[in-house]
Amino acid sequence: MKKRISHVLKRPGLRNGDPSIEIPVAEDLVTTPGIRQVPKDVDFYSRSYPLESQSITNTADSEWAWTVYPEEEQEGHREHVRLSKEVVKISGEYGDIEPTVEPEPGKDVTEEIKAKARDLGFGEVGITRYDRRYTFKYKKRWIRFEHAICIAFEQDYERTQAIPSMFAETTHFGTYRTMSQAGLLLADYIRSLGYHAQVHSPADNSAAYIPMFVQAGLGQLGANGQLLSPHFGSRARLMIITTDAIITYDKPLDYGIHKFCEICQVCVNRCPGRALIRDKVWWRGVQKHKLVYDRCRPVMARYTGCGVCMKVCPVQKYGMKPVMEHYVETGEVLGKGTHELEGYSVEGKGYFGPGELPHFNHDFFDIPHGRSEDMLFEEFKEKLNNHEIPDGPAGDEVLREFKKEVEEIVAKPVDDAMALLPQKEQTAM
Ligand code: SF4
Ligand code: SF4
Repeated sequence: MKKRISHVLKRPGLRNGDPSIEIPVAEDLVTTPGIRQVPKDVDFYSRSYPLESQSITNTADSEWAWTVYPEEEQEGHREHVRLSKEVVKISGEYGDIEPTVEPEPGKDVTEEIKAKARDLGFGEVGITRYDRRYTFKYKKRWIRFEHAICIAFEQDYERTQAIPSMFAETTHFGTYRTMSQAGLLLADYIRSLGYHAQVHSPADNSAAYIPMFVQAGLGQLGANGQLLSPHFGSRARLMIITTDAIITYDKPLDYGIHKFCEICQVCVNRCPGRALIRDKVWWRGVQKHKLVYDRCRPVMARYTGCGVCMKVCPVQKYGMKPVMEHYVETGEVLGKGTHELEGYSVEGKGYFGPGELPHFNHDFFDIPHGRSEDMLFEEFKEKLNNHEIPDGPAGDEVLREFKKEVEEIVAKPVDDAMALLPQKEQTAM
């Protein structure tokens, strides 16, 4: 049934020189621009329970994942860390480098920066305040500048449709490396305009970025927990550059995604781990679909990063404009119920079409939780309770070994790329 249109959003084309696109939003999809939130609750949680990077808080399951990764996945991780190491280091220190010229007094450089970002291959670019409420605790002192240039790079279309597979996983890592280099070139350009730039490498994230991308008008949060951006939906890989340049902020927009996801639900129904939930919840002051980490992680680790929730999203597959136009014309979700959109294969389990899901037994989801050092303490406590630590020299040796293991863990570097490796290899890098 044809829908009435509430508003039409005009967005820049994918590349410099491309015509702009118009996305119609049906009346029954309208909710709120950006994210539904209670700002005082977001403030409270960020102050009392600051966010922390998973590369710090989830080291126990990262270590476990190495016991189940397929061999090619292990090699993919090692290669990515090897190739990212230098650019992560340069990015981390980039904010200290002085601009190459004096800035033109009072000149707003928003359009110059956006055009340069598109020249460098970023398909989405928007600007907002860097929102410290979403900064990871260990990065809080590192942040220097208040304006965030939000830039998204498109992950290869064909390879993404092959999710879950190593063919697709290599483009995930490869996109991060390509955009890391492009981000450094954009930072060079900002310095050539007379301003500082701090590069938040996608291999070393400083915060949860999606709220800032939404605030900059670059999409809305989907039920799959990913940014649904206008041109390439959840195939967007994200990074941020912060700066002290004179720039103008963008505004959040209502693309109709909150209601659309309630109607679509394809990712929720197709998730092999049943890790996505049907209804939104309030979480740290924000209303959102919340992913159940413990049901996702075991699938991701065993099946090359999984990503089915990205692959089956119609906004990723067809783009937001065709999806929203189809909804206005028919009241239906483009591609829903088709093998083309919903079908996927799982290594060793076979092909699953619409309505079919792989089955995993209960043990499959039994993984370690929290930080590796906490796990070591728990194991140690259990040994004490079971009187497995003898008195005398043999017990001293157990204590020395325990101390050595804890020291190795707490002293390790913590960037996101490095956290892809098992702890022993991190120390050796
Ligand atoms: S990555 Fe896979 S298991 Fe995790 S939420 Fe997405 S579809 Fe589900
Ligand atoms: S698959 Fe559907 S429900 Fe899931 S994020 Fe995409 S549009 Fe939203």
